[in-house]
Amino acid sequence: MSEAVAATNAPSGVEADPYVMALKQFDHAAGLLGLSPGMQGLLRSCKRELCVHFPVRMDDGSLRTFTGYRIQHNVTRGPGKGGLRYHPQVSLNEVRALAMWMTWKCAVVDIPFGGAKGGVICNPKQMSQSELEGVTRRYTTEISPLLGPDSDIPAPDVYTDEQVMAWMMDTYSMHVGYTVSTVVTGKPLSIGGSEGRLEATGRGCVEVIRQATKQMGLPMDGARVVVQGFGNAGSVAAKYLAQAGAKVIAVSDSRGAIRNDKGLDVPKLIAHKEHQGTVVAFPDSNELSPAKLLELECDILVPAALEGQIVAENAPRIKAKIIAEAANGPTTPEADAILYQNGIMVLPDILANAGGVVCSYFEWVQCLQKFSWSEDQVCHTLCGFMSQAFRAVYDKAQERKVDLRTAALMLAIAKVAEATAVRGIYP
Ligand code: NAD
Repeated sequence: MSEAVAATNAPSGVEADPYVMALKQFDHAAGLLGLSPGMQGLLRSCKRELCVHFPVRMDDGSLRTFTGYRIQHNVTRGPGKGGLRYHPQVSLNEVRALAMWMTWKCAVVDIPFGGAKGGVICNPKQMSQSELEGVTRRYTTEISPLLGPDSDIPAPDVYTDEQVMAWMMDTYSMHVGYTVSTVVTGKPLSIGGSEGRLEATGRGCVEVIRQATKQMGLPMDGARVVVQGFGNAGSVAAKYLAQAGAKVIAVSDSRGAIRNDKGLDVPKLIAHKEHQGTVVAFPDSNELSPAKLLELECDILVPAALEGQIVAENAPRIKAKIIAEAANGPTTPEADAILYQNGIMVLPDILANAGGVVCSYFEWVQCLQKFSWSEDQVCHTLCGFMSQAFRAVYDKAQERKVDLRTAALMLAIAKVAEATAVRGIYP
């Protein structure tokens, strides 16, 4: 099971409401593009929003009703693509925002998918494997009108993993009567998963950081790195940054934060987290307050937990040179403006964490081809997609004199608008 996420530093309120954030970001970029009001109205709306309430028999024999969502923001460029999140704080607005960001992410890296997202309000920490399987199979059945290899393809996100994807794939296959490996990505290798998928988000994020540091003339060797959220995305990013010579000086998870200014031993820290379930109490480290972690003096800050972590209140105290958003939506638009003014380069989520969906695209292609690629081929092709996307975003930012998020959104929104216009309005 994907590592536990129990708490968040995120402030409550409108500033950090993910959907409010996503719409503000969209309105800014779409305004600069000069899109017609009609096109703006279409692209800022979610196409399909399915809310389901469903019963699951729990281990003690009781019946519990769960609530879940599957939302397709836009499917103009291809099937809806996006993860499934299990978390007690899942909300309709969070899933809407995550679906919208998926549309832009797939367009930025130029893969033929639209954007979708799913979520179930639950706390996997307090559920057995058989209860999780029950939730997954019934949720899959409830959202089956939307699912399909050519219509909507889920993947893992916070609190879901390859086992959850295997149950979804099996449930869908049982309904249609034959095996459909293309209906989800992030599957185990034994049923059509891809080499390199588990590490793809962190690896892709590091490739984008590599391009950014090159552009800034900042050597990776010796660069001081801080990572918030030491789960799948964060720990893999830390591992590859350390391999590139960077010094990971502080990390956190939902239970606390640790630091060592001389640099943490990342492979040993990953093993510690695997055994202890947390980074806390790692030998050769001191604890620090999770909120202070974001404000440490460093070169590269990698938020890899949840949305709304960098807000107007703490943004002025951030001292990193680069912020690489492995998480979705960690920075509010208000904070973005402050960081830009302070000369901090923000590598936006729709670019920096796109490695996961790019590799999901490779997995889907391999399943369609009934042919597997080697890990080398996956990684090499992934890095090509990421560096090309960085170049396009960076050039657009230079040309339009805007921050990288606005540039990435402008590129993405223009692609979706063009696809919409050329397809025409039905009927
Ligand atoms: P995960 O469950 O594997 O890890 C999340 C980590 O964040 C855990 O270590 C958890 O303890 C920590 N965390 C939670 N709340 C925290 C807090 N308040 N402070 C510090 N740490 C906290 O999940 P993941 O798959 O790594 O996803 C993390 C983020 O990356 C999410 O925003 C997700 O949408 C995004 N993302 C993931 C992928 C992927 O392929 N896994 C792809 C794109 C984006």
